[in-house]
Amino acid sequence: MAADFVCLLNFQRTPYDWLTLGPPMNEERPPKPRAKATKHDSRRHNLRTTLDLVSIRGSTTRAELARLTGLTRAAVSSLVGELIEDGLLQELGRGESAGGKPPTIVALNRSGRDIVALDLGRRPFSGGLVDLGGHIHHRQDASPTDPTGDSALEAALDLARRLIAAAGSPVLGIGVGTPGIVDAEGRVLAATNLDWHGLELGATLQRELDLPVSIANDAQVAALAELRRHPESGDSVLLVKIGRGVGTGVVLNTRLYRGEGGAAGEIGHVQVVSDGDPCTCGNRGCLETLASVPAILRRIGADPDRDPWDAIALTVISGEEALRESLRVAGRHLGAALAHAIALLDIRRVVIACDLRNAGEELVDEVRRHLAGRIMPVMAERVEVELSPLGTDLVLTGAAAAVLTDRLGVVLR
Ligand SMILES: [Zn+2]
Repeated sequence: MAADFVCLLNFQRTPYDWLTLGPPMNEERPPKPRAKATKHDSRRHNLRTTLDLVSIRGSTTRAELARLTGLTRAAVSSLVGELIEDGLLQELGRGESAGGKPPTIVALNRSGRDIVALDLGRRPFSGGLVDLGGHIHHRQDASPTDPTGDSALEAALDLARRLIAAAGSPVLGIGVGTPGIVDAEGRVLAATNLDWHGLELGATLQRELDLPVSIANDAQVAALAELRRHPESGDSVLLVKIGRGVGTGVVLNTRLYRGEGGAAGEIGHVQVVSDGDPCTCGNRGCLETLASVPAILRRIGADPDRDPWDAIALTVISGEEALRESLRVAGRHLGAALAHAIALLDIRRVVIACDLRNAGEELVDEVRRHLAGRIMPVMAERVEVELSPLGTDLVLTGAAAAVLTDRLGVVLR
């Protein structure tokens, strides 16, 4: 079994490796020939595997790790020793004896590192310090005077600096979820709301803060956060984020699928109505023009920039039935659009994160109905559509998960 580890080695990892690793579908195929594995590479890989196994199991013993990895007890002891010395693992006393000396329990040292996580899709920008177990233990935010262009970039940098200064443990890396399309080099190709076009966001943060940066679209990192919430219900999830726009994030076999150009999940700009309303992308009748929060609000005569994004407050403006009808329209178009994605990918878990407070259940019911009616019954029976309870923590948790996967090879579960 030890030989399998050599096949799975990841060489020449960079801070962006989790973005540039081959898509999960490639896992079945033999890896492309690469430079010969060195002893250092093998050890590095085995360290990552050990850490990931401890993270998945919560707590374990050296003997169990040896059994799971196929490595010798001596090799596992050496790996665990190094991870404890590094502050990533810790010993938690003795477990139950199976006859001989009781084994020592080994677990993740949650407070061994801090991760700086940024959510740039919110106003104000939101940031947090996240421990190795995915718990947000400190929060700050930033309100740039002008929330676009250089001013927005400065605010993001300042927020990250303040969080680094507040960290109580060594900082493992910076995780960022941003609106827009992000390429494999961490460049924001297009984020209309922030007026960022071809912005070298990843490189700038890395240079200014001197820390590794993991960065992706906010809906994409949100999908990583949802994967963690139900580890028992599979390794794949489709997350739909409904806010100013409509975006989705796809995790397949525990890996975020970003697509060849970083734009996987940009379902909001698929035309669903010919000759519909004009969209910010230049086309007409995109899903976003029908199912985003501003679209839901405009249909009932509310102003998305002034009126509260809260269904209960909005019923005072429009009456209950008008709002319900507007949500039904959004749900119908979303359900129809998602049917294509589910048929294509056969993902069983669809999670909806909606920035319009107190409206989610109505929307989810409608999505469920219209999705189920458009795919094969045998598939429809398996698909679960639910509302995300993570709320404002969704992107921060996902951005931290991205750093963990990138830096330590740990899938947050
Ligand atoms: Zn569009």
